[in-house]
Amino acid sequence: MIDWNKLADVLIPDEDVKPLEYYEEIYPERDLPKGAQVTRLAPSPTGFIHLGNLFVAIANERIAHQSGGLMYLRIEDTDLKRKVEGAVEAVKSALRYFDIRFDEGAEIEGAKNAYGPYYQRERAALYHAYAKDLIKRGLAYPCFCTEEALSALREKQTEEKKITGYYGEYAACRNLTEEEIYENLKAGKPYVIRLRSQGNAENKITFRDEIKGDITVTENDQDVVILKSDGIPTYHFAHAIDDHFMRTTLVIRGEEWLASLPIHIELFNVLGFRRPKYGHNCSLQKIDGETRRKLSKRKDPELSLEFYRQEGYYARAVKVYMLTLLNSNFEEWYLKNPDAALEDFKFSIGKMGKSGALFDLNKLSDISKNELAKLSVAEMIDFLQAWTEEFGSDVQKGYFADKAYLEKVLTLCMGIGGKKRRKDFCTAKQAMETIAYFFDESFEPEYAYRFENSTVKTILQGFKAVYDYADDCSAWFDKVKAVANEMGFATDMKAYKANPEAFPGNVSDVAEMLRIATTGLANTPDLWTIMQILGKDRTLARLDKAISVL
Ligand code: GLU
Repeated sequence: MIDWNKLADVLIPDEDVKPLEYYEEIYPERDLPKGAQVTRLAPSPTGFIHLGNLFVAIANERIAHQSGGLMYLRIEDTDLKRKVEGAVEAVKSALRYFDIRFDEGAEIEGAKNAYGPYYQRERAALYHAYAKDLIKRGLAYPCFCTEEALSALREKQTEEKKITGYYGEYAACRNLTEEEIYENLKAGKPYVIRLRSQGNAENKITFRDEIKGDITVTENDQDVVILKSDGIPTYHFAHAIDDHFMRTTLVIRGEEWLASLPIHIELFNVLGFRRPKYGHNCSLQKIDGETRRKLSKRKDPELSLEFYRQEGYYARAVKVYMLTLLNSNFEEWYLKNPDAALEDFKFSIGKMGKSGALFDLNKLSDISKNELAKLSVAEMIDFLQAWTEEFGSDVQKGYFADKAYLEKVLTLCMGIGGKKRRKDFCTAKQAMETIAYFFDESFEPEYAYRFENSTVKTILQGFKAVYDYADDCSAWFDKVKAVANEMGFATDMKAYKANPEAFPGNVSDVAEMLRIATTGLANTPDLWTIMQILGKDRTLARLDKAISVL
């Protein structure tokens, strides 16, 4: 018989831990109204914060705040190999961009933060106290198996077509004698602490998932590692302890964790903790050729949240799209309430998708265009300027020097004052590129005319000779028509349509030449207005420049 109390003391001395009651006392049940949910986001500080994180963050945030509860940020830094400097700031700033508010947690200033520390590596004593308790109860044991021994075991099991892992008869260290354990310790062999699973893989457990509904899982029988050889807990062990002591009531996490759920169920049971509710959120998928697959870090830049900031997606648009994917009735609600605060939508966990959500950048672009078409010029300037300061070029930063000029440009490009708002802008990056032709510093025309250079040249010269900045729109257009007429281009569209071969082209072809000469583009908003914004000198200079290269 093993003296488990003695072994526990040897492995985890009393001076390193506090009695269990201490932790229950310092992390009491939270005093929240009935029904209030405590949720969390628990990213690993790998420096890569992705759309999947945002996907669950929005659900967790909505449910917490809607129920009068709170959401906190916990940093799961148990895997040192994957740790990246500045990762926490990256998480926080990425989520701040999407207006995800934490009430408490790692580096959340101004919060009470009474359940911290929120970095798992700073909570070692707590995990050790519970590991020690499990050892004392004979429910955990030291395992001295080397990496080589474990991979040999895996190979053998694969060969024998058995479930791989450390369990039952394969769990070599499960039945070490007391002498063997102390010999190994004396020899200084590194060891991990494993759970002595009480489960039986023959048994099924029915489990209620808040998103997926009733699901059946197999009982855990794996003697999973709870403390690694450096004394740092595994995700599983830290999850059970932290979500208990941080008093989480609801865990919404990615469905990739569903496979580990039996381990978590057993851990909560042996630790004597009440389990939080779980909702396993479906993955984000995309259509790739003929197949539908999960978004991948390697293949899909749009998986990274950094992508949306660099491209300058409007945060609300991304959020609207995420909500569309998260709650099946959101789209309809939003159609009826296009200007409402997103918080006014009653988010419900029951309306979350049970299986993979299809993520489509084109759909996001459409939403983006709609959202940006709701902004005022002043709001657009703020949005573009914030992006440009972080990601734009020096030339683009210069666009903000003359605000009155920029306002005119945006008023036109956004279609303000027109019959309908234009939806030309999709992202800040693309919007800044779209307005580049208004600024000489970035005006780099390629002049792709559809007519002979000599024709274009005569037309440009003809127009330049009669151009008068003071002309109103109709006087201006009369001049365009006059130039067209002179060159034999049709100005009567009916006549042109009846007999197109009779003309080299029509007045809109002439307008296109003027447009390309002035802006470098064949498609722009109204050309007369563009010339008004550019001003007389700049318009004439552009016509000259265009003529000079013909
Ligand atoms: N650290 C885990 C992850 O980043 C957290 C999973 C969870 O929410 O429990 O995937």
